[in-house]
Amino acid sequence: MSLLSNLLHIDLFKNPNQIIAEYIWIGGSGTDLRSKARTLEGPVFDPAKLPKWNYDGSSTGQATGKDSEILIYPQAIFKDPFRKGKNVLVMCDAYTPTGKPIPTNKRSKAAEIFSHPKVVAEAPWYGIEQEYTLLQKDVDWPLGWPVGGFPGPQGPYYCGIGADKAFGRDIADAHYKACLFAGINISGINAEVMPSQWEFQVGPVAGIAAADQLWVARYILERITEIAGVVLSFDPKLIPGDWNGAGAHTNFSTKSMREDGGFNVIKEAIEKLRLRHKEHISAYGDGNERRLTGNHETANMHTFSWGVLDRGASIRVGRETEKNGKGYFEDRRPASNMDPYVVTSMIVETTIL
Ligand code: ADP
Ligand code: MN
Ligand code: MN
Ligand code: MN
Repeated sequence: MSLLSNLLHIDLFKNPNQIIAEYIWIGGSGTDLRSKARTLEGPVFDPAKLPKWNYDGSSTGQATGKDSEILIYPQAIFKDPFRKGKNVLVMCDAYTPTGKPIPTNKRSKAAEIFSHPKVVAEAPWYGIEQEYTLLQKDVDWPLGWPVGGFPGPQGPYYCGIGADKAFGRDIADAHYKACLFAGINISGINAEVMPSQWEFQVGPVAGIAAADQLWVARYILERITEIAGVVLSFDPKLIPGDWNGAGAHTNFSTKSMREDGGFNVIKEAIEKLRLRHKEHISAYGDGNERRLTGNHETANMHTFSWGVLDRGASIRVGRETEKNGKGYFEDRRPASNMDPYVVTSMIVETTIL
C-alpha cells in the first residue's frame, strides 16, 4: 500500500469522540454538488444534533461578493464510505443569513409539502431510477468509445457484459456498495442501452428521504468517478442521434395505491397528472426536450400518455400492478438532471393536494 493510502486509512476509531463530517450542499447551477469537511464531537446519528454551518456563496454563483455568506442546515446524515469509521456525510439545504431559503434550495418547499397531514397520511413511496453517463477526462467523449468515433449501434449494451460492451462497471459497482454502506437504499443497478451509460435505483424510500438519498447517491458517485479519473454526466441527451438519452424515471405509490382497489386510485392520479402535464415537464430537468422526442423509449414531451407496460408512454403501469389491482406507477418523464426535491414533491402535490 502506498504511503498516501496508509494515511488515508488511519483508524480514527481510536478516538471515538472525534469525527469528520462532510457537509454537502447544492451549488449555483442547481445541479452541481459542493462539500467541505469539519471536525466535530461524535458519534452523531441525528442531523438535528449537528451544528449549522456556512459557506461563501460568491464562489458558488449563489451570492454577490459583498454579502456572500450562506447558511447551511443539516437535514440528513449518512455514513461516510470514503473515510469510514464514525465519519459522516451530511446533506444540507441553504438559507440567507436572515433564514430565507435561497433559490436553489428546493428542499425547503418540498419539506412543507411532505409535512402536510394529507400527504403524511398517504405515506408516499418513491423509487428513482437514476441514469448517468461516464466520460473520458479531457476529451469529453464517453468512456470506452473510440475518441473521435463511435462504437457499434445500440443493442448489445443494455445489461451487457464484456470488455467491448460494458464500460465502467467497477465504478457502477463500487458506487452500489458505497451507497449501501452509507445507508442509502439502492435497490439495484444495470448497464444501460447506450454504452458507458448506467443506472442505479434508489427506493422504495418514503417521503423527502428519497430525494435526500438520491442527492447523496449522486454525490458519492461523483466522488468515485473523481478517484477513477472519469467524468460524470447527467446530461439528458449527451450524444445526439440514435443514442438513448438519460432519464430519472420516478416510481410512485401512496398507501391507497398499495391497498386493494389501488389501481383505481392510480388511474385517478394519472388523470390529475395529465391536467398538469405542462407544469411537470417544465420542472423535470433542463434540456429534457432533447430527450423526450418520442423515440428511444420516451414519449414526446408535447403529449401525455399512459399505458400498462408501455415504454413509449409518459406514465407506465407495470404488469404486476395491473394483475394485483394495486401497486405503483412510473413517471418516465423526469430527466437525469432533475432535482428530486422538485419532482417528488410535485408528484404528491398534483396527486394528493
Ligand atoms: P424499470 O422496470 O422501469 O427499469 P426499476 O426496477 O429500475 O424499473 O425501478 C423500479 C423502482 O421502483 C425500484 O427502485 C423499486 O424499489 C421501486 N418500487 C418498487 N415498489 C414500489 C412502490 N410500491 N412504490 C414506489 N416505488 C416502488
Ligand atoms: Mn430501471
Ligand atoms: Mn433505465
Ligand atoms: Mn424505468
